[in-house]
This record gives sequence, C-alpha cells and structure tokens, in this order.
Amino acid sequence: MEMRLSNLRSLVDDKSAGSEMLELIRELFPICRSITGNGLRESIARLGEFLPLITHEVATGTKVFDWTVPKEWNIRDAYIKDDTGRRVVDFQQNNLHVVNYSAPVTARMSLSELKPHLHSLPQRPDWIPYRTSYYSESWGFCLSQRDLERLSDTEYEVVIDSTLHDGSLTYGECILPGRIDDEFLISVHICHPSLCNDNLSGVAVAASLAQVLATTSHRYTYRFLFVPGTIGPIVWLFRNQEAVQHVKHGLVLACVGDRGSINYKRSRHLSADIDRAVEHVLRTKGAPFEVRDFSPYGYDERQYCSPGFNLPVGSFRRTPHGEYPEYHTSADNLELVSASCLADSLITLLEVIDLIESDLRFLNLSPMGEPQLGRRGLFPLVGGKAAKAEQLALLWVLNLSDSANSVLDIAERSGLPFDQIRGAIEALTAGGLLERTPR
Ligand code: ZN
Repeated sequence: MEMRLSNLRSLVDDKSAGSEMLELIRELFPICRSITGNGLRESIARLGEFLPLITHEVATGTKVFDWTVPKEWNIRDAYIKDDTGRRVVDFQQNNLHVVNYSAPVTARMSLSELKPHLHSLPQRPDWIPYRTSYYSESWGFCLSQRDLERLSDTEYEVVIDSTLHDGSLTYGECILPGRIDDEFLISVHICHPSLCNDNLSGVAVAASLAQVLATTSHRYTYRFLFVPGTIGPIVWLFRNQEAVQHVKHGLVLACVGDRGSINYKRSRHLSADIDRAVEHVLRTKGAPFEVRDFSPYGYDERQYCSPGFNLPVGSFRRTPHGEYPEYHTSADNLELVSASCLADSLITLLEVIDLIESDLRFLNLSPMGEPQLGRRGLFPLVGGKAAKAEQLALLWVLNLSDSANSVLDIAERSGLPFDQIRGAIEALTAGGLLERTPR
C-alpha cells in the first residue's frame, strides 16, 4: 500500500511565488485602507478575483462583545494649503499624510492653531509617521519633520474631505474545505494604508498560501480571514462562537516580507501542536530564527488567545512589529520587503502545514525485534552521511510507531527533519512494514 504524506512545499517555485507576492503588494500599496470603508472593501475585492472569498459586511453600531462596530470612514482628498494656494501637505502624494480615520474638517487657521494637529518624527526627519484616530473622533496630518520645519507663520487652508457615516465593516473569509471538519485558521489584518511589511506582506503571503491550498487536496479545512485589526477578529469571533470549536491550529501572519529572520511567538498554550510544528520546521531549516513565549501584546492573536477563546493560535512574523525603525512610517515601503523573504515565509509556512497535515499515527507491523530491512531493499546499500540519516529515520519511525506517537512526536524525539521522517514513512508503508492507525 502506498502512503503519500503532504508535500505542498514541493509544488511551489520560490522565485515565481516571490515575485507574484511582490506584484500584489505593489498593486495594493496605493489604496488608502482603514478599519472600515471603500479602501478596505476594494482590497478585499481584489483578493476575491483569485480566491474563493466571501465578503461580509457588518453594520455600524452592531454590538460585538465589549465593542461596537464603528462608523464607516471614507476619504476623497485632504490637504493643507499655504497663503499662495500651494498644497504644502497633500493626501494625493501619500495617504499617510492624513491621520487615518480623521473626521472631516474645512478651516482656515494659523500655524500655531494647526500645530497640535500635526505629527512628525524628529528622530527620522525624512519619514512620514502613520497615525490613526479610531474610537475617538479627531483629525490630524502627518508629515516629515523637514516639511514641518519649512512651514512659515502664515494662515493655512485645512481640508479633510472625509466622511464618517453609519455604514458597515468589511472582512473577507476564504474557507477551503478539507477531508475533516477540524480547522486551520490563518488570520491577517488588512487595514493599513500605504505600508508594506506591516501589513501588505501578511496579506500577500496569506493569499498565496490560500491559492496553493485551493488547488490541492488536504485533510484540514483551512479558513483564511482578511480582517481589519482588533475589531475584525472580535467581530469574527462574536459571529462564530460555535465554529471556533473546530479550530485546532492557527496562525496570525504579520511582517513577513522584511529581510530579518523568522520570529515565532507561541500561542497561549505554549506547546500546542502548531507551536511544536513551527519550532520543528525552524529548527531543521538551518537558518537563524527566534521563538518567543506568548505575551498578550502584538496583533490579532490577542483576540484569538483571549481567555474566553484560548485558541491554539501563534504569531508568525519576521522582524516583530515595533522592532524595526521603519515600522509605522513611510519607510515601510516597497523597498523594505523582498521577493525572496516573502517566498521564504511562504515556503516555511507550507512546511509547517505539511507537518500538521501529516501528523498522523502509524503502527509497526513487525514489532518483535527489528524487521530485516535489507531483505526488503530498505537498507541503504551505499554508505555516507545521507544514507546514515536515511537509515536513522527508518529506525526511529519503526521504533516509535506504536500507535501512540504521531509524526510530530517522532520528528521531535529523533531530531531528524520532517522531510526525512516523511520519506521513511512512505518507504516503510510501501514495504508493508507500517500501517496508518485510525486516530
Ligand atoms: Zn500596524
């Protein structure tokens, strides 16, 4: 009998996947997204062109646990004009210039009246900061420290042509049914305007993962969420209080395109299968990485890992948010992310999924003493390092396949890469020495 374990990783070409993700980021980059509104809607619609996506609209004012779905924010234009009529700050040049979610304003004011509404970064004088004013109605502009210093003491015309109205909050959900109802949840926020690593990199990698899974057969049901940060997962959790029981593994993706090494933050469980699988893949890759314990500070894992849900959801990123200088500034642009790092994140996640998909239990059908491998052509005839590892994998699989240990248990205890274990399981099953046990 032949036994094929999941090998999605082998289906993806790193180079073309990397450039496709970068292309999607380039396309979505100019759109002014927020936690509600047309920019968010348009971005989700773009993903729906190549993914089987359901778009949900949840009305303003809807109560969701301790929160309320906020008003819908839309913006057409914003600027500060000096007394010569020149736009000295212009939303059309960069959407970070407006404090995201700013209330509308049309006014004339002096520089001193305007200044409390201006935000800059004195330490990084060329960068525009990214600021938001969700959940408290206000307005403001962001500009580089250099541009701020150039403003003369004159009267300014200040316009933010935005609307805050009773509309809805939009989120995208892509469900890819598997052979079992147990679910693997992958969640990304999609509410930042022109910013790449945080957060279009997460959107692009999640979309590519969904594309791979949409065209292959898999055991788990995969659910991808493209949601506005914080309020999005709270809305989803509120509306899916029954469905969450199916979530057996989960990851929040953010900051996955920069050139830093991979950094994983464990779920609140600390040693859930997803935590062990990610750690095993990272350990066997040979590249530098870091694993951190759970903390209630970060992205949307805060909601999934809140005590009322306590889902096994970890946080997969490269350089964590706030730990690179370009974070939440105009310098988090297309130059900060690279095709090869996006591809590395994607491939690593596919390896994690392969491991989780393959985390089955097997039974050694010849457990009285070691079976004779040579007779079955399973004993490597040629020596050397590779043959040694191959042989070790066969011995570990045979020894631990007592129906109690899963593939992940074997990978962990042997310290051998999952690839090696997978090969051994396939060979031993084909050789009639191993059989999959019902869960
Ligand atoms: Zn952010």
